[in-house]
Amino acid sequence: MEQTRKPMKMEVKFAENGEAKVVKASDALPLPLYLTNAVFFTLFFSVAYFLLTSWREKIRSHTPLHVLNLSEIVSILVLVASFVYLLGFFGIDFVQTPSLKDEEEDIIVQEDAHIVPCGQALECPRPQIAGIASPKPAQKAIVENPAMETPPPTAEDEEIIKAVVAGTIPSYSLESKLGDCKRAASIRREALQRITGKSLEGLPLEGFDYESILGQCCEMPVGYVTIPVGIAGPLMLDGREFSIPMATTEGCLVASTNRGCKAINLSGGASSVLLKDGMTRAPVVRFNSARRAAELKFYMEDPENYETISMVFNKSSRFGRLQSVQCAVAGKNLYMRFCCSTGDAMGMNMVSKGVQNVLDFLQNDFPDMDVIGISGNYCSDKKPAAVNWIEGRGKSVVCEAVIKGDIVTKVLKTKVAALVELNMLKNLTGSAIAGALGGFNAHASNIVSAVYLATGQDPAQNIESSHCLTMMEAINDGNDLHVSVTMPSIEVGTVGGGTQLASQSACLNLLGVKGANREAPGSNARQLATVVAGSVLAGELSLMSAIAAGQLVKSHMKYNRSSKDVTTVSSA
Ligand code: ADP
Repeated sequence: MEQTRKPMKMEVKFAENGEAKVVKASDALPLPLYLTNAVFFTLFFSVAYFLLTSWREKIRSHTPLHVLNLSEIVSILVLVASFVYLLGFFGIDFVQTPSLKDEEEDIIVQEDAHIVPCGQALECPRPQIAGIASPKPAQKAIVENPAMETPPPTAEDEEIIKAVVAGTIPSYSLESKLGDCKRAASIRREALQRITGKSLEGLPLEGFDYESILGQCCEMPVGYVTIPVGIAGPLMLDGREFSIPMATTEGCLVASTNRGCKAINLSGGASSVLLKDGMTRAPVVRFNSARRAAELKFYMEDPENYETISMVFNKSSRFGRLQSVQCAVAGKNLYMRFCCSTGDAMGMNMVSKGVQNVLDFLQNDFPDMDVIGISGNYCSDKKPAAVNWIEGRGKSVVCEAVIKGDIVTKVLKTKVAALVELNMLKNLTGSAIAGALGGFNAHASNIVSAVYLATGQDPAQNIESSHCLTMMEAINDGNDLHVSVTMPSIEVGTVGGGTQLASQSACLNLLGVKGANREAPGSNARQLATVVAGSVLAGELSLMSAIAAGQLVKSHMKYNRSSKDVTTVSSA
């Protein structure tokens, strides 16, 4: 951003509480500005008058001018000092010490900080300066906090560390042997550093509840990775406001989504419809002949058998309710894709238990059935697959908004026609040429991943959860934009897995969908799915606008590139 010279030297400083204040040159003196100025003006003119009169006397008495007494030397020094001050006051900067130069650069950065990269490209003025905290002190907060430093091992722990290093105590057994998950993680970490000779400095150990992940989220922990969480929105969705937590290290992403939310809100909000809600699991079973495999298929598809099968399936959980079984024969193998509702759980465990019950039951009528695997990939979990794109998996959601033409111009800085054309050539035609599978969008996975990480979802399910068809159409005589995202496989839950961890749970709480919904089981998870779709809608709108306006690269170079010399980062 271009820096403009001000008549009086000023800069914006941020106080520790994040509030901005204007700093002037005269702040160096503990006096009000008008007094400081008066002192320097008086000094300058009095000293100048004194020197002129003394030199006039010298000329009269034929004394050389360069012969100076002490009072004249002091007067010259005072004259120069007050002259420098007055030049500074009038904004004429002729002396620049290295530290002043640094401050100048700070001013540029701070002036830039008043601009929000609100669209992976576009710059929006911040509404106010107050409250913008300087990012510098927060950067090493965890490492510098003495309370977070790991204490040296005790003599007893030292013995255990040596045993783990020697291989006499298996690392995985530390939790069960010690009965203290934090201590186990600390010992494992120290042993790992000694075995590998690599430092784990920077990977925090303190400040985490290791008991909460035991047997549920992560084995053999040695610390935890920190990911910043940003907030986009609020997003007006189905008449409610949602502040969207996004865990990401990709600069621009939160700001971009935020801009999309703004455009949606100013246009009256977005609305969503949940089309389908069912998690799937598809075991593969083998017979001696294709005929036998087909016989089981017909048995499963006979409506008369469905009631029995669903009764057996539903015994596994209060929340798992069988919806359908879709069968596919491959030679003498049969793949049965069970689909069931799972309440507020994402549901992989729940559906697997139900499937196991049914397989055990089928073994009675089909003793020659050989169960090859409870998952035969026709499910299909964590892999790109047309079956999820076509049939859906988890929650299928469509979300739409009408963005008014003037909002497209003012907030998104582009035109309706440009967006429609770009969407057709990029998200539809371009993706078709690329042979995309569910990838008919600009960057749905960016938003899905960030929301998933923040809210404790399984990040690997980003694959099918990011299947998204983005559509844009000019409506109202080409003045306004209809935009929609259709997402058939959003796999989310608000109970189980990582959702129970403290930080992820806090993000779910922010969205008002923490834990199980007791009045209407499943409604928290369904609500979360619509928020994911709404956030994707905002993200699509903003990035597409940035691309249409041709500002993507410029913005990323500005906000997504650290000035840090990456060549200095190496292994320790
Ligand atoms: P997943 O199937 O997603 O892996 P889990 O089986 O680990 O999830 O967690 C679901 C657990 O939460 C089950 O034991 C289930 O009985 C319990 N639960 C409690 N309330 C609900 C609810 N409203 N919806 C779904 N599950 C619930």
